[in-house]
Amino acid sequence: MTYRGRFAPSPTGLLHFGSLVAAVGSWLCARRAGGQWLLRVEDIDPPREVPGSAQAILAALPAFGLVADEPPLFQSRRRAAYDEAFEHLRAADRVFPCWCSRTQLAEAGGIHRGGHCIAAPDPRRPPAWRLRMPDTVVAFDDALQGPQRQNLGEEAGDVVVRRVEGYYAYQLACVVDDAFQGITEVVRGTDLLDSTPRQIWLQRCLGLPTPAYRHLPLALDAQGHKLSKSERAHPVDPADPLPALRRALAFLDVQTSAVAASPQAVLDSALERFDPARLPRLAAREA
Ligand code: GLU
Repeated sequence: MTYRGRFAPSPTGLLHFGSLVAAVGSWLCARRAGGQWLLRVEDIDPPREVPGSAQAILAALPAFGLVADEPPLFQSRRRAAYDEAFEHLRAADRVFPCWCSRTQLAEAGGIHRGGHCIAAPDPRRPPAWRLRMPDTVVAFDDALQGPQRQNLGEEAGDVVVRRVEGYYAYQLACVVDDAFQGITEVVRGTDLLDSTPRQIWLQRCLGLPTPAYRHLPLALDAQGHKLSKSERAHPVDPADPLPALRRALAFLDVQTSAVAASPQAVLDSALERFDPARLPRLAAREA
């Protein structure tokens, strides 16, 4: 089977150092395996979207030498596929409508448990839809972080798969599209390590294959905070790509040629020396 990897940014700001690390890491793994590298724009959350950022991210990547093998997939155009997956879950009684308010949820400990809504149904308002999480342990071997396990019912609870406004949640869209794009290994930051067991559960509910997972260390600032796009932190400059590209590779402990003068040459020299087994394991490290 051909290796297929992907980079799946949310258009909530400009490309920043943390997402450049995920892009470079997933690109290196795909190229090292002789596979393909795909893009997916996760634009399914209009309230959080920053106008123009999807195009800015897509334009920035080639400036860093990161060129995808297929045109990008836009989640905003995939509604029909998510509707279909949702109907499948509903027909199998895997989801239930939920009218809980934030306050009710907070009173219940912040995690929705039990497989049915604790609030009274309110036919005047549309509900959110939650995935019924069983008291089941999902275990998987992360290629970098090692064996992982999570009790879904206790640790994740009944997660929302369709929001009150009708938007589908990241978890559902992500598994539907990883399968649609034929992704064989997901390489992303450890901030999503926790989401993986619920994604694996969704794959099982939907009869979708489970890819391999490799969660890269998260880039932290000097204060120990995650570098996050939504905080507009640390954008990288596509007009001057070499410094950030070299820093991203150094963050991943990948050596590069000192004389390489273009992003492509830097990436090619990194690829020659790259061994996925020697990526740094630490879940978080300073950028
Ligand atoms: N869209 C997510 C983000 O930008 C990444 C999702 C993923 O890689 O599964 O944080």
